[in-house]
Amino acid sequence: MTSEPTPAPSSLPTARLPERAAVVDLDAIRHNVGVLRQVADPARVMAVVKADAYGHGAVQVARAALAAGAAWLGVAHISEALALRAAGIEAPILAWLHTPDSNFSAAVAAGIDLGCSGWELDRIVAAAREQQRPARVHLKIDTGLGRNGATAERWDSLVGEAVEYQDEGLLRVVGVFSHLAVADEPHRPETDTQLDAFREAVAVAEDAGCDLEVRHIANSPAVFSRPDAHFDLVRVGISVYGLSPFPDQSSADLGLRPAMTLRATLSQAKRVRADQGVSYGLLYRTRDAATLALVPLGYADGVPRTSSGGPVQIAGETHRVAGRVAMDQVVVDLGPDPEPAALAGAEAVLFGTGDNGGPTADDWARAAGTINYEIVTRISPRVPRVYVGEGA
Ligand SMILES: *Cc1c(COP(=O)(O)O)cnc(C)c1O
Repeated sequence: MTSEPTPAPSSLPTARLPERAAVVDLDAIRHNVGVLRQVADPARVMAVVKADAYGHGAVQVARAALAAGAAWLGVAHISEALALRAAGIEAPILAWLHTPDSNFSAAVAAGIDLGCSGWELDRIVAAAREQQRPARVHLKIDTGLGRNGATAERWDSLVGEAVEYQDEGLLRVVGVFSHLAVADEPHRPETDTQLDAFREAVAVAEDAGCDLEVRHIANSPAVFSRPDAHFDLVRVGISVYGLSPFPDQSSADLGLRPAMTLRATLSQAKRVRADQGVSYGLLYRTRDAATLALVPLGYADGVPRTSSGGPVQIAGETHRVAGRVAMDQVVVDLGPDPEPAALAGAEAVLFGTGDNGGPTADDWARAAGTINYEIVTRISPRVPRVYVGEGA
């Protein structure tokens, strides 16, 4: 794996940062897209920017990813795709999760590619008639994940119906796609079964007369672990943000750079006596006299309340959250040594690049019993996003 030495996060302009910020390094996004292009080559890269780009900011990440050579953007909802178009982004965008209340007409009018599992087909065709413009459709086959997508039993008839509409000029079947269930566990056999089913579904569509632009099934883990899953296009989310999709491999192992740093200026630092209880429930007590630092980030900001002892770096050293995460704040026990006065205006980093042993989203995922995906995605709108790097 190519792994350049990781540069310092593009000179975080600490002095000008808001008191609480999720700093997003667009150079890291570009670097990661470059790595993914190399690994996926000759398949092309779809940067998945759903959920506000996993909390990083959809428009900014989309622009950086496209500048770095991503060919497509992917989102769950039509509303997310329309927001990208409204920001002036003209690249191909696929939206794949719909309900009968989704605005298919607006999607067709905006040139959004639409995933279709079956029931959407008539709605998409109605929208194409209304807009007098053929819809671009990616038919989805459920190869085993059991979420959306047509079942194998329904596939032939879905393809048949779509091709009829295609012959009427109402749509073009430009893609066939599916989603993997266990690609983050490369030893499991179900991925082979899913790939076999996928190849079969693609053959059915091609035999029926679909001239496919893209066949796609790979997510981030499959990009790294299953070259035979790359096909024409890979749909990558978490790896664009520099985080590893594997429990036993780090960002650095994959040549990726975490893009988001969650940090705040300390609210307070004070001396307390030994056996001082800390935070609701008094579940933590200081052992000796200690300096406590108050960090103004809590579960309203997306720090999981269920995390226990999450890491926080203050003045170059990593400590653990003492006691419960509150709505607005956490407390960190810095031990007996630091002088509170020396900590005025100091910065607390909950997670970031991981350089020099700093805390990572992976550490918080472990502390909270979840995955790094959730840690970054759940950072709430109360935390201002600040962009650094080229294009910020
Ligand atoms: C979210 C999503 C992806 C991206 O998955 P990562 O593991 O983050 O790379 C790809 N495809 C679909 C259908 C998704 O919902």
